[in-house]
Amino acid sequence: MSDRIAVIGAGQMGNGIAHVFAQSDFPVTIIDVSAAALERGVATIRRNLDRQLKKGTIDAAALEATMGRVSTSPDMDAAADASVIIEAATENVALKFDIFTRLDAIAPAGAILASNTSSISITQIAARTKRPADVIGMHFMNPVPVMQLVEVIRGIATSDETTARTVALAKAIGKTPCEANDFPGFIANRILMPMINEAFYCLMEHVGTAESIDTVMKLGMNHPMGPLTLADFIGLDTCVAILDVLHDGIGDPKYRACPLLRKYVDAGWLGRKTGRGVYTYAST
Ligand code: NAD
Repeated sequence: MSDRIAVIGAGQMGNGIAHVFAQSDFPVTIIDVSAAALERGVATIRRNLDRQLKKGTIDAAALEATMGRVSTSPDMDAAADASVIIEAATENVALKFDIFTRLDAIAPAGAILASNTSSISITQIAARTKRPADVIGMHFMNPVPVMQLVEVIRGIATSDETTARTVALAKAIGKTPCEANDFPGFIANRILMPMINEAFYCLMEHVGTAESIDTVMKLGMNHPMGPLTLADFIGLDTCVAILDVLHDGIGDPKYRACPLLRKYVDAGWLGRKTGRGVYTYAST
């Protein structure tokens, strides 16, 4: 019997997660407190599927069938019949704790309660529920339909069964799961965020222009995109939130967020999603 998936949050990650599950034949309900976000999320899935259609990687029937497996709801109760719930709401500790407390009351017994958090402790999130063995991190990369990796994060109480089911699910949607233990930033962001932060220090100290910093890392290190372009893509607010978690959780000053990065966030320059970050973007 196929799992029923609920995705909490229809933002850039939530709609990507819904997209890949629906495309792999799973029925998916996307839940968001914002009706506008739900509308945008579904429109983004259709636009991305259209792109796949134009490239010839899917046909029109597959596009419609995928869209047909996606439903939306503004109400968390819509997760009550899901066997797998993947939370991809805003990166905010109090918000995630509240969502998991509510999910614990709503979700059927045996459901996997996964979080796509980039950096918040899975152990702490799990402690907000009475079923910490069923709570796990399922950390997708952006853009979800394109990126191969799913970092699977075990909290201290996560069971072997939950881990095995999550690994199998990631494989079922054509991704490559990689297990990590629950320490601040896990593997991906423990290594990525200090690099992005250092790029902002280089920009602030005029070591180089944004273009030079990105070009050095692209051509010199063979990275597909420079760290500042990547930061705009991730969202500068998300970068600051992750650096704060690394700084608080590990206590080493090397993780403090660069003041210039914070200033951009204070200005509302959050990257691609607001049309301006390090670079400016034409609205699509
Ligand atoms: P986003 O700001 O694009 O979307 C977040 C969505 O959550 C919004 O639509 C918002 O309305 C919704 N939301 C807020 N409170 C809610 C609630 N109580 N119930 C339901 N929905 C609610 O954020 P995003 O970039 O998609 O990030 C989502 C999560 O994914 C975060 O935990 C982030 O750390 C993680 N993540 C982000 C990236 C990235 O590159 N952006 C990569 C990996 C993981």
